[in-house]
Amino acid sequence: MTTDSKIVADLSALLGADNVQAIDAALLDTITHDWCVHGRKDVGVYALVLPRTTEHVSKALGYCNEHSIAVVPQGGRTGLAGGSVPIGPSVCISMERMRQIVELDVAAATITVEAGVAMETVQKAADAADLFFPLDLGGRGSCQIGGNLSTNAGGNRVLRFGMARDLVLGVEAVLADGTVIDSLRKVIKNNTGYDLRQLFIGAEGTLGIITKVVLKLYPKAKSVCTGIMAVDDYEAVLQLLKRARTGFASQLTAFEVMWPDFYELGTVGLGRKPPLDLGAGAYVLIETMGTDPVIDQERYESVIAEAMEAGIVKDAIVAQSQREATALWDVRDSPGEWSSGVHWPQLGFDVSVPTGEIGPLAGEIRHVLATNWPHVTAVFFGHVADGNLHVSVRMSDHDVPELDLERAVYEVVALRRGSVSAEHGIGSLKREFLHYSRSPAELALMRAIKNAMDPKGIMNPGKVI
Ligand code: ZN
Repeated sequence: MTTDSKIVADLSALLGADNVQAIDAALLDTITHDWCVHGRKDVGVYALVLPRTTEHVSKALGYCNEHSIAVVPQGGRTGLAGGSVPIGPSVCISMERMRQIVELDVAAATITVEAGVAMETVQKAADAADLFFPLDLGGRGSCQIGGNLSTNAGGNRVLRFGMARDLVLGVEAVLADGTVIDSLRKVIKNNTGYDLRQLFIGAEGTLGIITKVVLKLYPKAKSVCTGIMAVDDYEAVLQLLKRARTGFASQLTAFEVMWPDFYELGTVGLGRKPPLDLGAGAYVLIETMGTDPVIDQERYESVIAEAMEAGIVKDAIVAQSQREATALWDVRDSPGEWSSGVHWPQLGFDVSVPTGEIGPLAGEIRHVLATNWPHVTAVFFGHVADGNLHVSVRMSDHDVPELDLERAVYEVVALRRGSVSAEHGIGSLKREFLHYSRSPAELALMRAIKNAMDPKGIMNPGKVI
């Protein structure tokens, strides 16, 4: 086994034996993969640290820094880019025992939590206080807030509430040498120099470990309206988006586009009856959140009816109950069911360009795939209002190397000055493609920051930069 008895003994002496685990086969299996990346088991994981306090994290990092031992911070291990997967000899630090809700401040509309609290727990705590935590994605039950911030998670409501980094008021984090940086403030306005909390958000544990956070909460919606519209093409998608933005204003919370290939896979491909017939050029799921169930539903239906009269929407279904709304979201959330074998294994892309260019970009990616590898199956979907396109290529029906497919897609994205990772992060998976989206000067600045904060390079080596 890869465990290192001296390191386990040293860390046990510092933190207490019950907060450090030696590595056995079952544990190694758990800590060497996320939702997309199955890492090698022979990389040499010395120990798993399970801190209960910020002081534990500080002591563990201080020890590892002193002995130049690499550290891999882990949350719920639900990432999609390998950010939490060890790729070399290292100590893993899992935040799962730091799961206290420290405070919910109704007047400030904030919640302060430890990094290991699950996203869903934050959502439920906010709900119980008649407030709303908007960050939401498929892994809500398992993913942890520390991981959500470290990867700057996105999800389905970014268009209204922003990415994870937009929901954070304060952060407490521990640097590589064990120094605790306490930026745990609840104020919105704080113009006091460099915004240190943002250094840790999206850094995927390469600059330190987030231990506590203050998150923004919003008023709880009294109404949610959901529907799916069928349109002819991407031009109609853009016209519908314009009408949705005007008609719903700040009540618009989701505008999710599914290309026909995705829609077919997410309905009949999974044995589900399509809410609207197959055969349209694109399908759009629109969600609004408001303050009055009756007025908001009427407005929703009238905006859609006007878009139908204008010939933009060809067919539509509007949910009349929460159950119907959930059924519509199930189609959009169907990627969570692909692993049952219908579209698995898959290679996922998470790219972004300005919203107006998403349609052409989808066409260009489709063209590159079809020209070079006509037998490859791919489906397209995305958070179009955020300029975010997901493409999923089924890998089991051909032998095209992943790297060739990735380069081909990212070169198309780079020509439009897009991002090779809109919301999933870089991790180990996209590290070699970072240069498609970041200039040499930007990469040099990122390295300078990394070297200043982690001079020995112990924090999550091989990830991001
Ligand atoms: Zn997404």
